[in-house]
Amino acid sequence: MQYPEPIARLIASYMNLPGIGQKTATRLAFYTIEMKDEVVSEFAKSLLSAKRDLRYCHICGNLTEEDPCEICQDPTRDKSTILVVEESKDVMSLEKVREYRGLYHVLHGVLSPMEGTGPEDINLGSLISRLHNEEVKEVIIATNATTEGEATAMYLSRLIKPAGIKVTRLAHGLSVGSDIEYADEVTLLKAVEGRREL
Ligand SMILES: [Zn+2]
Repeated sequence: MQYPEPIARLIASYMNLPGIGQKTATRLAFYTIEMKDEVVSEFAKSLLSAKRDLRYCHICGNLTEEDPCEICQDPTRDKSTILVVEESKDVMSLEKVREYRGLYHVLHGVLSPMEGTGPEDINLGSLISRLHNEEVKEVIIATNATTEGEATAMYLSRLIKPAGIKVTRLAHGLSVGSDIEYADEVTLLKAVEGRREL
């Protein structure tokens, strides 16, 4: 038996999400149909608005409603330090710690020869131009403690250090393979404080 067209389309939509297979998508689709109209309507609206009202900051690459983002625009932030992360959600995790008052740069990925991701495929060019244009004294590399994250950190270090800028790496109380996203605030604070020079 075929599902009616609207539900088949909903299942197909859910299957576009990462980690969602046919079975989960079907369960979610049927669950959605049972939800109250206003809840579904709110859900649809947040999907559209997240896509429509957000953009990437042209300076740091962070997700933002305004360009430049709030952090890049904030005159009280310390412009001598740039903390480099893989994803926008890492910025949000680190901002929760509140201790860090410098700027960020979001790579939107990591170098991965296995997957064919090279330096030109991540948000690297704009980081390099920031280093030319601004009074940057330290770059803190906070890519995740995965093989790709470590390789990216080494690559960045080799690229940036010759410019006379201090390059540090977050201390990893974060265990190997762990994501910044999932680290608690105390662990992140310790990681920032205990950063080591590369
Ligand atoms: Zn920004």
